Amino acid sequence: MFRPLIAAYSHCPLCGSSAYVDGEPGRRCDDCGHREFNNPVAAAGAFIADADGRLLFIRRANDPAKGKLMIPGGFLDGGESLEEAVRREVREEVGLEVAELTYLTSHTNQYLFDGFHRVTVDVVFAATVTATDLEAQVVLDPEEASGYALLQADEIDPAELAFDSIRAGFRAWMAHR
Ligand SMILES: [Zn+2]
Repeated sequence: MFRPLIAAYSHCPLCGSSAYVDGEPGRRCDDCGHREFNNPVAAAGAFIADADGRLLFIRRANDPAKGKLMIPGGFLDGGESLEEAVRREVREEVGLEVAELTYLTSHTNQYLFDGFHRVTVDVVFAATVTATDLEAQVVLDPEEASGYALLQADEIDPAELAFDSIRAGFRAWMAHR
């Protein structure tokens, strides 16, 4: 069931009033006038192919979609561009340095965290990396990934991909390659 975090607030997060009502869109405080919109949280990730054309996936170590295949990526930090975020996430999660980024597509997603959904927009890139031998040079972050896989496109079961946004990104990557 879709339980957006913004709909769960019982009181105005600014003044604490209980007169926190539907704001069309979002929520509105009838006491202090504070408004909160249900704007998406941005995330960015990248499809990275090795020299043999195999795509790099990590196995998610955490819910949601624990154990499913995910591309390196994650949520933007405040002040980051999409490109800066994907370069940082690739460095943190698989220890690789991005060389070039090509925009592929974006897709909305509902990310369940602490029992509530946040609406996200997942932005997917194709990336090249400076590493030439991914099997020798991938360094996983065990907090994020329980393993990794290098798969040819025809070896990828879309049902094994973590999110609809990753399936949409995979289709875009196939059309782009
Ligand atoms: Zn208020």
